[in-house]
Amino acid sequence: MDISYILNQLGEDHASYFNAVSPPIVQTSNFLFDTVDDLRQAFAAEYDVYLYSRGNNPTLEILKQKLAALDGAEDALVFNSGASAIFCSVLPFVKSGDHIVSVRSPYTWAQRLFDVILPRFGVSTTYIDGTELAHWQQATQPNTVLYYLESPNSWTYQLQPLEAVAGFARSRGIITVIDNSYCTPLWQQPHQLGIDLSLQSATKYLGGHSDCVAGVLTGSKAHLSQIFYSEYMTTGAGATPFHAWLLLRGLRTLPLRLQRVADSTARLWPWLKQQPWVEQLIFPGDPDFPQADLARQQMSQAGGLLTLVLRAQRVEQIEAFCNALQRFRMAVSWGGHESLLIPKCAGLPRQQFDAANPVHRQVRLYVGLEEPAVLQADLAQASQHLSDAPL
Ligand SMILES: *Cc1c(COP(=O)(O)O)cnc(C)c1O
Repeated sequence: MDISYILNQLGEDHASYFNAVSPPIVQTSNFLFDTVDDLRQAFAAEYDVYLYSRGNNPTLEILKQKLAALDGAEDALVFNSGASAIFCSVLPFVKSGDHIVSVRSPYTWAQRLFDVILPRFGVSTTYIDGTELAHWQQATQPNTVLYYLESPNSWTYQLQPLEAVAGFARSRGIITVIDNSYCTPLWQQPHQLGIDLSLQSATKYLGGHSDCVAGVLTGSKAHLSQIFYSEYMTTGAGATPFHAWLLLRGLRTLPLRLQRVADSTARLWPWLKQQPWVEQLIFPGDPDFPQADLARQQMSQAGGLLTLVLRAQRVEQIEAFCNALQRFRMAVSWGGHESLLIPKCAGLPRQQFDAANPVHRQVRLYVGLEEPAVLQADLAQASQHLSDAPL
């Protein structure tokens, strides 16, 4: 894969826009036709032509070509959020009476889809520990039509053996969907391993500047046109030209940013692991990570997100640590320029905090683009506050 060509040239027809280096935001809702027959042909092939920007748009088209090429896929669709990419990767392939097997605790809004929306239409889901092929096989029923994977996930980083799961699914005619947001196509190539549909929250690394919510889905033309003519068009889930342009700009620096994130993470995690205030560090690039071998096989790198289990008896200590951080700032999301943290205890009423439960003491860090020494110093100063929280 020639990433430089993909990111800098592929899909860009400069002559059609005054030889501008940066492609225009083609801010239009609709496209003109000279004859009835031209319009007729467009109606018959909306997936492939410019008719209306809820479907296709030239700015989006440049982006789609790059995203498909990065993933080694035939085609891509770009959505107005990662969540809508999830919705549209599942809905078109299920009907009443069907069954899905999903990794346990997938991304919150994927789980909501499986738990709240799909059961209303007679589609059931079994959650499994997806770390072993045998677990997928055991959970598969005659009516199983779709496997939903997320490898690694974004809190505990469990992996699924992608090639084995994809191979088994294919032998049973089961479609496979993966959330590849953690790795992006630069660190993991799900289609090479046989996965049918790969999605990402483009809000994270692809956008990379915390200024755009978007999603991406790649796969075969057959799958994507099926999605296009059903849920994609009926929900109007596509990205706007402006968001496509922001993502194009983000993509230019994707390899640089990911490398910086990986390098900074590689500098921080061994230090964090040694700190007395860190009871456990969860990071798939750590050789002690339970699935470190599998991570090495199917991911070229790891970085960005890592989870700490802090040593603390009281929730106030964890809060004092989090509140004291100044370079890691508190917010949801990740993948932007800025380092972030999110403590599990923020999702709990204080009185439910149970220090005996390590999950309650988890803090997820996202290592951004700042100087790693500055980030390390910030963690060191904040750790002082773990011990001096008021009783
Ligand atoms: C953020 C996220 C999503 C959802 O993406 P949005 O762009 O916020 O809709 C899906 N999966 C993972 C792993 C995420 O981190």
